[in-house]
Amino acid sequence: MKITRIETFLLKAPLGEERFWSSQASFPERKSLLVRIDTDAGLSGWGEAGQYGPAEPVASQIHDVFAPMLLGEEARQPAVHWDLMYSRTRDFGAKGSTIEAISGLDIALWDLIGRFHEAPIWELLGGAFRRTVETYATGLYYRGPDPTDLAAGLTQLREEAARYREEGFSAVKAKIGLLPPRDDLERIAAIREAIGDDILLLADANHAYNTHVACTVARELERFRIYWFEEPVVPEDLEGYRRVRASTTIAIAGGECEHTRYGFVRWFAAHALDIAQPDPTAAGGFTELARICAAASAFHVQCLPHVWGSGVALAAGLQLLATIPPAPYTASPRAPYTEPLLEWDANPNPLRTEVLEEPIVPREGKVQVPDGPGLGIRIDERAVARYTVAQRCSE
Ligand SMILES: [Mg+2]
Repeated sequence: MKITRIETFLLKAPLGEERFWSSQASFPERKSLLVRIDTDAGLSGWGEAGQYGPAEPVASQIHDVFAPMLLGEEARQPAVHWDLMYSRTRDFGAKGSTIEAISGLDIALWDLIGRFHEAPIWELLGGAFRRTVETYATGLYYRGPDPTDLAAGLTQLREEAARYREEGFSAVKAKIGLLPPRDDLERIAAIREAIGDDILLLADANHAYNTHVACTVARELERFRIYWFEEPVVPEDLEGYRRVRASTTIAIAGGECEHTRYGFVRWFAAHALDIAQPDPTAAGGFTELARICAAASAFHVQCLPHVWGSGVALAAGLQLLATIPPAPYTASPRAPYTEPLLEWDANPNPLRTEVLEEPIVPREGKVQVPDGPGLGIRIDERAVARYTVAQRCSE
């Protein structure tokens, strides 16, 4: 099954008044870079590449750097292609958009071999530990015309948090770090009050703090029974991570901006994390995520992949999550203490549902792992065309 064609689709969906903010940036639109690989067997595989920066440099690497390596080659060997793509770009790649490009191609190749063998990716990776996955709602961002307006934010957060409770989520994640810590703690207090005591609450600073501020915030967050504190400090500061982790009983999570096993193993060796969050579309696709999860387990770090993007990225996260062993094994598996949780981005994003013919949507906070071949999804190509603002093709 030879690779005959590689196509990328840059999808954009403007959010208008629904735009939202994290501590780092505003989100005026949702965007995704989808990858399709065609073969001489008539089968096509889909992937998604990158989440964080502009998609154009990622598309450029797919077409200008990697397509010449892949066109005409056998498709049924993603790990071989991964190693060649990584090794031949080591001198200028190894991180960032280069690995995002490799990730999108790798996901599309795994989707292809799944379609070739008529098996889901979870089966090709060794089997599913679970066929139903619990999700947590990622929401509770800064919204409205003035995202720093504390009073307006509290009203909006109470409503949003109550909605997640009604929808049956057992865990929700809130943003912190845009406002001064005292104001952010008021936001967390309002959310805890709205969701009650039974729902797990997670806090994500998107690396907004210095170590000493992060330690203070962690101590204050303990009052609200926060389960994990995500990205307290910048990802370069592993010593800062270690210090925050030593200062609190809250689990420390991070790694969504890290790439490959080479990047993650430094965090594990530094004892910087309780929970590692590699993103399948950014940290290296299925081939590399399986290795990152294996490395994490060797250091007794829980692996809960970061999931953000279109329905394709969500499907990739779901396939991977099915294959992650309980950590640790017990006779009574329970998310998130032993079982992994799937990140469900609850923010507005038409690309999450519309590009899939059967959208993946949680019911009572849970989603089913699909049985279908590859990623287990069918792409609605008319929806892809509707949102595509730039398209490139290599053949
Ligand atoms: Mg995060």
